Amino acid sequence: MPQRHLREAAADAARLVQPQGQGLDSASVRQRMVARLRAEGLNEERVLEALAQVPRHEFVDSALAAQAYEDTALPIGHGQTISKPSVVAHMIGLLFKGRSAVAQGHLGRVLEIGTGCGYQAAVLALLARSVVSVERVQGLHERARANLGRVRLPVVPKLIWADGRLGAHGPFDSIVAAAGGEDLPPAWLQQLAPGGRLVAPMSKGSGQVLVVVDHVVERGVSQWLRTEHEAVLFVPLKSGVL
Ligand code: SAH
Repeated sequence: MPQRHLREAAADAARLVQPQGQGLDSASVRQRMVARLRAEGLNEERVLEALAQVPRHEFVDSALAAQAYEDTALPIGHGQTISKPSVVAHMIGLLFKGRSAVAQGHLGRVLEIGTGCGYQAAVLALLARSVVSVERVQGLHERARANLGRVRLPVVPKLIWADGRLGAHGPFDSIVAAAGGEDLPPAWLQQLAPGGRLVAPMSKGSGQVLVVVDHVVERGVSQWLRTEHEAVLFVPLKSGVL
């Protein structure tokens, strides 16, 4: 009886898809992730709230969706990865300690270098006045556009396919890089608004460290104050587009 087979197949399909879909779509799975990040010492509440809202499973391959709320980097194709939630929280937390962000209560005009799958751009969109995100790999740029199209956000990130070492149309109050190079490209410093803060990984010795730069203006004179933070591990910042 063909009809019966069809009904059984439909029931099987529902059984296979539903438990996972329900689990990942619910806010509680994200709240559990955020609770773990809080327990690890991440304490910028606005950032944790944003992480609690963004459906990270929409930004990874469906085969990896079950791992989307673990604190791990996951492959997104083209040899790249989606950043760990704790790293995203830490980087954006550092941006919030910049002068512009403290004064405005949000991150202002944000530039992200290295869109990847678009996850961090979505988190930033909940915390900024505007977001521009640059990616050098066209395939990822397009995937990010599709991923972000599935998520409802108060600010729509402007995605650009280009070499992010050149920055974008600044100035920006906050700049965050998701890839680390040998140096800080001069365009980033030039496009950092007075009071603005940049957070980026950078090579040091055989590894990488997180570097924070504040654009401070005193008596009309600009200074770029640089501090080094902990060791990190990001994908390399490369030149040109693919
Ligand atoms: N922001 C992502 C992380 C992506 S990984 C997230 O939310 O998880 C870093 C990305 O930086 C990769 O996609 C890589 O292709 C990109 N990248 C490396 N060098 C770049 C450059 N010069 N300009 C723009 N993107 C670059």
